[in-house]
Amino acid sequence: MMSKFFLSMAFKLGLAIFLIASVLLSSLEIFYARRFSREIDERLARESGIPARLMGQQALSYAMARDTGALSGIVGEEVVFAAACQSDGTVYYCSDPALEGRPLPEAMGFREDPADAWSTLSPEGDETYLLASSPLVGEGRRIGTLHIKMRTGNAQQRKRQTAFLFVGGFLGCIALTTVLGAVLVHWMTVPRFRGILLGLKEVEQGDFEVRIDSAKSRDELGELSRGVNHMIGELSRRNRERNKLEDELEAAKEEAEKASRSKSEFLANMSHEIRTPMNGVLGMAQLLKDTELTSEQREYVETIATSASSLLKIINNILDLSRIEMGKFDLNIDIVDLRRLLNEMNAFFSPAAREKGLDLKVLYPEDLPLVRSDENTLRQILVNLMANAIKFTRKGHVEIAVRCLERTGSECTLWFGVSDTGIGISSAAQEIIFHEFTQADGSHTREYGGSGLGLAISKRMVERLGGRLGVSSEPGKGSLFSFTISVDMEEEAPGRTPGGAAAREEERMDLHILLAEDNKLNQRVVVKMLEKLGCRVDVVENGRDAINRLKLSAPEAERPRYDLILMDIQMPVMDGLKAAAMIRAQEGDGPRTPIVAITAHAMKGDRERFLEQGMDGYLSKPVRREDLLALLRKHA
Ligand code: ADP
Repeated sequence: MMSKFFLSMAFKLGLAIFLIASVLLSSLEIFYARRFSREIDERLARESGIPARLMGQQALSYAMARDTGALSGIVGEEVVFAAACQSDGTVYYCSDPALEGRPLPEAMGFREDPADAWSTLSPEGDETYLLASSPLVGEGRRIGTLHIKMRTGNAQQRKRQTAFLFVGGFLGCIALTTVLGAVLVHWMTVPRFRGILLGLKEVEQGDFEVRIDSAKSRDELGELSRGVNHMIGELSRRNRERNKLEDELEAAKEEAEKASRSKSEFLANMSHEIRTPMNGVLGMAQLLKDTELTSEQREYVETIATSASSLLKIINNILDLSRIEMGKFDLNIDIVDLRRLLNEMNAFFSPAAREKGLDLKVLYPEDLPLVRSDENTLRQILVNLMANAIKFTRKGHVEIAVRCLERTGSECTLWFGVSDTGIGISSAAQEIIFHEFTQADGSHTREYGGSGLGLAISKRMVERLGGRLGVSSEPGKGSLFSFTISVDMEEEAPGRTPGGAAAREEERMDLHILLAEDNKLNQRVVVKMLEKLGCRVDVVENGRDAINRLKLSAPEAERPRYDLILMDIQMPVMDGLKAAAMIRAQEGDGPRTPIVAITAHAMKGDRERFLEQGMDGYLSKPVRREDLLALLRKHA
């Protein structure tokens, strides 16, 4: 509080006034004090000449020189010595009778025969004496000189009193000037400064409509206030412009986001629409391959199958990207057997690697734990990285490795790396290859094909799993793509053998299955696959027919028994979700047939929706034989 006062304008202005007043008034005081002192001395000197004048006018006898007491009464100071001398300097009458008739000793300091009244101050020890010599003039002629020596005590006291009065008076003046000046300056300026300050504070808080009142006055503060008002006006104008710009930007951003969403939705819908017939083409081509064919026909079918699968790959990539962009990419966290996944990779890429004469290495420690993650997402990332590694390597090796970097409690930090001895990537290209539709070199499309989507998708998928996909590479030497993710570990069930699923793939299953699917092509593909696995399949076109086929209202003995219902989601008349809900309602507390949804693109939240409607799981299109087998094993 105190320090605030010392920093305030009022204090500083008060101090300035005090200093100015002190200098001015002290100078005045000194000047006047000296002047008064001089006047007192002069008066004393004048008064010391009065006895000589009175003696000259015969109003006093010369003999009065002997009476210092009477002389003291006339001059107002104590006369300590007086001597009336004749013109020749002989003492005529004197307060010291011993000196009468003799010349006055020179050592006493008097002026012997002054033409006019003469006086001088003579300090002797602590005292100051006035020595005065005045001519004695009688009847128009000079008859002698009167010498008087007197103490100056009264005059000195008067001087002291005057000095005190001056000091007191001027000190009072200084105090009064300081206080009045400070109050006046405070009154004239501080409220106006405060007004400016308050205005600026309001501006700081975002109120640009505030204006300073004192802007009308013509002094400097008025000018300052006008300047501040002008500045606030300018700020207000800029603020309005900025707000307008922000609104426009926001609108443009929303527009762009809307456009991007529409683009993603369009892409998702289009790729979904293209995927369904493509699945048919691919499925039929696969089935056709298993029939008796001439070598020419086999070649045609294989070309159809390869073209269809690369087209499907692009479509799947676009679909994945759209799903990620729309925020509809949902993880399906379950137990993942990484050793099986890596063996699967090995089996999947071995033919391609062999064909190019590459050495394919799959490295993982024997104690690699079972973990909880999204297997399909992990597979997709690794497939993308491995496919690139093989594609961009002419000789040498391609390696996929998984390591457990750290185990803390039930958590484990996994490192995945895919390396090759291929063409490598320049550091400039390393910056852009993770962007959509970007390749390290424009010529790659011609030479190696590809759409530039794989890495963009993989990067986002790795991020979705909580990691970061990175690359280190040297042109001509090779590349390493790697990422690290943290996962929960699972207790290992006894007797597990990696690659067990693949080993049992040729298993046959005698199951009765109801397939609800409206697309003829898909019907045939799924039916053929199921039949090859040893299943019997009944097919219906929509949800309503599925319910009718189940005859749930009939007595239990008359109902057909199914081990599993495969239910397409989008069907005419009644869709899969509605049908599943109705089947569950009709089953009541009775036996429950597992229902598995078949869907072309599972979006975020779909899985929960399916389970809510009474379904037991879902299968993604295109239906793969292994997925179907795993599903039958799990649900039937
Ligand atoms: P594409 O379908 O073109 O392969 P990606 O997104 O998977 O799309 O890859 C983008 C580009 O990154 C590739 O076209 C290639 O130029 C470069 N690239 C990716 N992986 C490798 C690799 N292992 N070696 C060399 N270049 C690679």
